[in-house]
Amino acid sequence: MTAARASHYDRVEEEFSLPTDNADEKNYDPSRDLDVLRELRNIDKSLVALKAAFEKLRSAGDLTDDDIEVIIEEFERFVTGKVSQLDKVRNDLRTLYERYFEKYHYRAIVPVKGGVCQGCFVTIPPMRLDIIRRTDSIEFCESCGRILIWEDE
Ligand SMILES: [Zn+2]
Repeated sequence: MTAARASHYDRVEEEFSLPTDNADEKNYDPSRDLDVLRELRNIDKSLVALKAAFEKLRSAGDLTDDDIEVIIEEFERFVTGKVSQLDKVRNDLRTLYERYFEKYHYRAIVPVKGGVCQGCFVTIPPMRLDIIRRTDSIEFCESCGRILIWEDE
């Protein structure tokens, strides 16, 4: 890990461990936020698929005005769902997600596969990998900072 990457990672860790007004640290249960993060990832995946389908149909000239209206409505439905999910998570986690969304677009939350971050393809150290797999702790990639989630392989 380069010095720049390490300091970036430290900043993320530091920020995330700051006490927040909307969460009692002692009673904080990360599993709830983790569920929300999984849901956010599903919504982002759907948005990407919807966008790709839309682009494909549009470039083929296969869309009527009515089709476009339906797709936009669907898109907005997903985005509204996302906002209501984001309202449920800790403020600092929301800020991080939004920052990574700006940077990585629909790949702010990525799974770990084969011990590798699916955002930047850097190997996750075994100890952290074990934490991600066995606990509900919210973990970040030490290389790119993305939020990591475990997906059964
Ligand atoms: Zn990464």
